[in-house]
Amino acid sequence: MLRHRKLEHRFVKHVPDSLESGVLYVSVEYGIVSHLCCCGCGEEVVTPLSPTDWRLVFNGETVSLSPSVGNWSLRCRSHYVIDRGRVIEAGSWTEAQIAARRHKDKAEKARYFGYPAASGSAEKLAPPAATSGWWSRIWRWLVR
Ligand SMILES: [Zn+2]
Repeated sequence: MLRHRKLEHRFVKHVPDSLESGVLYVSVEYGIVSHLCCCGCGEEVVTPLSPTDWRLVFNGETVSLSPSVGNWSLRCRSHYVIDRGRVIEAGSWTEAQIAARRHKDKAEKARYFGYPAASGSAEKLAPPAATSGWWSRIWRWLVR
């Protein structure tokens, strides 16, 4: 069960050392989103923003994070989706599902960063796309 059904977002430069529950801290500058686990266990959950990790959508009022947040390494093993500030329970996964997701993550990172995946793919890999200045422009606009 989730204790927090809503997260208020807070754009920050640095994620503070002690987090408030029910708050999603977003550091665009460092590409880090952090919050206390929505189950209420008090563990900090860090979701890095990158083309191979999480993506954040800010619609001007609320934020969404995708894919879902699966806290498999925490004792609570909570799993939820953050959609427009709402926290939606996503159900627990089996060990096989978790392993499959980790494998997929690894393969995605391998593709993106340009080294062959464990399977030894020999295809020619494109260089990583240059980081666009889009976020930094949004960020400057937000903090001015
Ligand atoms: Zn938890």
